[in-house]
Amino acid sequence: MPSIFTRIIRGEIPSHRVYEDEHTCAFLDINPARPGHTLVVPRQEAPGIFDLDPGAYAALWRAVRRVADRLERATGCERVVVIVYGADVPHAHVHLIPLEAGGHLPFPQPRPTPPEDLAAMVDRIRAATRPAYDTRTALVVVDVQQDFADPAGSLYVKGAEEIIVPVNAEIARAREAGATVVYTQDWHPATTPHFARDGGTWPVHCVGGAPGAEFHPALHVADGGLFIRKGTGGEDGYSAFSVRHPEDGEVSSTGLDDALLERDIDRVVLAGLATDYCVKETGLDAVRLGYEAAVVTAAVRAVDLQPGDGERALHTLAEHGVEMR
Ligand SMILES: [Zn+2]
Repeated sequence: MPSIFTRIIRGEIPSHRVYEDEHTCAFLDINPARPGHTLVVPRQEAPGIFDLDPGAYAALWRAVRRVADRLERATGCERVVVIVYGADVPHAHVHLIPLEAGGHLPFPQPRPTPPEDLAAMVDRIRAATRPAYDTRTALVVVDVQQDFADPAGSLYVKGAEEIIVPVNAEIARAREAGATVVYTQDWHPATTPHFARDGGTWPVHCVGGAPGAEFHPALHVADGGLFIRKGTGGEDGYSAFSVRHPEDGEVSSTGLDDALLERDIDRVVLAGLATDYCVKETGLDAVRLGYEAAVVTAAVRAVDLQPGDGERALHTLAEHGVEMR
């Protein structure tokens, strides 16, 4: 049976609607704790906010900020109190309550707690990490292709052949845990401004259909994986999520974000080539798109055009919140 909020959103129950977008609706609470008390509700019917899929979750908080901003201006309140309680209606929602200057809302009664109990709680919370892989995680195997991974390849990444064993081990762990495995391939037309001979940076590599674009023969290509080819239209294809045209700068999606959202995936683990280009750009895009992200440092190698590029790339990723494994 649809929740009372779904019925309100559908208009089956009348409401005092103050905001709506593709993912979210907001209407006045009919028993307001303060004038202007508003409920911001995702259209997706999930029991709690942490059950929402990543897109709906991000959209909810964007809407919360927009509605809070309007409430502040409309009521002249001092601030808008945000409460996520959840025990009232089993459909995720956020309460926004305008609070006048000097106003007060009761907060749960604090209890004095000895420092050793707080320290023990810190240990428990810090240890309660997710398993390395689960069904909402994707291992992204970046560009483990002949031209990069074979010492005879046209853009060989030094030491790349050493990562095949650890990459295959990650693939096995991911599959055992029911995680998705994504395989990306740099996949260029024969002529592209990505190549030095056509005005770009790189020697000719990974031309679609040529042997150099094939996966390294020792790479375990698992059934049921997702396959992403990037640069097929002549773009620079560093990130597994997006490609950029080298001349007009236009950015377009590879479809990976949609494919992961469809599988309800909210975390990516990165391995492959090369640390300072495709792994780095994929990690930065993942964080920008709202994914948790990790890099398996034993399963990546860098081009290192300048000495230390790989180390600097890992440092940049860590600064953006990417976990180093
Ligand atoms: Zn390329």
